[in-house]
Amino acid sequence: RAKATGGAAHRTYVPSLHADAEERRQLEVSLRHALERKEFRLNFQPVVHAMRENVVSFEALLRWHSADHGVVSPAKFIPLAEETRLIVPIGNWVLYEACREAVNWPSQMRVAVNVSGEQLLVPDFSRNVADALIATGLPPERLEIEVTESIFLRDPAMARQSLQEILALGCSIALDDFGTGYSSLGYIRNLSFSTIKIDRSFVQGAAQNNPESLAIIRAVVAMAQSLGMNTTAEGVENADEAAMVRELGCSKIQGYHFGRPMEAEDAARLLSRLKHSTVI
Ligand code: C2E
Ligand code: MG
Ligand code: MG
Ligand code: MG
Repeated sequence: RAKATGGAAHRTYVPSLHADAEERRQLEVSLRHALERKEFRLNFQPVVHAMRENVVSFEALLRWHSADHGVVSPAKFIPLAEETRLIVPIGNWVLYEACREAVNWPSQMRVAVNVSGEQLLVPDFSRNVADALIATGLPPERLEIEVTESIFLRDPAMARQSLQEILALGCSIALDDFGTGYSSLGYIRNLSFSTIKIDRSFVQGAAQNNPESLAIIRAVVAMAQSLGMNTTAEGVENADEAAMVRELGCSKIQGYHFGRPMEAEDAARLLSRLKHSTVI
């Protein structure tokens, strides 16, 4: 097929490949300086209890406002940060900042921080978690670490060890984007995850009455319940989706319907408003 289209395809293909590589290289150069230039910010997205609909935690989500490239999507810069291992220093900044913010919230409010596989493979990574907790004074029970199934691909033993150490500190661990990656139930048996986050693609599928998505959510909820784990439905965008995942038995809900990722000041303002509204 490539031969049939001949030289024209060849001429357009090569320059665009080159442009992609060049764009990537420029992004990487900027990413190397992003921390020192203070170009990162954290946003916080509320997670609510499925039945009571009160906020139980916030997920910290990294934002990059690059002087060179404008706002760059995490879908673009997180993979690049992982490939270059820049995610290690950047991730430490995220941990510290998230804890620093959460320590000012009401005493039951948790913060969830995404951690990449690359970070878990740093020897003694849990030390960084402990340092962030000590430096900020956040109690370990209020920090949840979110990991995806992909962390078990390269060095499962090392990833597991890091997670065990984080659990030993008193933090909890959530399994993010469940069902989208390389799913093996072995590590669910061997590690005590507190929450399984059901990926938005299943929530969307179920909302469109896709029988497979519905069956998968039911199965994941049943598995989590029998293992004593919570489930969070991700990416719930409207009242119908919220009602559906509640009926399916998900314990927590996250998504635009209850709140978009917001600046730290707005999260704090939301919390103080909620606090006052519950005072009788
Ligand atoms: P994630 O951890 O699964 O985070 C949830 C993503 O879904 C976020 O995208 C959030 O903005 C988006 N989202 C939440 N509710 C809805 C909804 O109702 N509808 C839709 N369409 N989207 C919704 P975001 O912020 O672009 O982050 C993308 C991914 O980048 C995250 O997925 C996570 O894997 C990664 N990421 C973000 N911050 C960090 C970080 O600090 N460290 C690491 N290692 N990865 C991060
Ligand atoms: Mg996450
Ligand atoms: Mg997720
Ligand atoms: Mg995701």
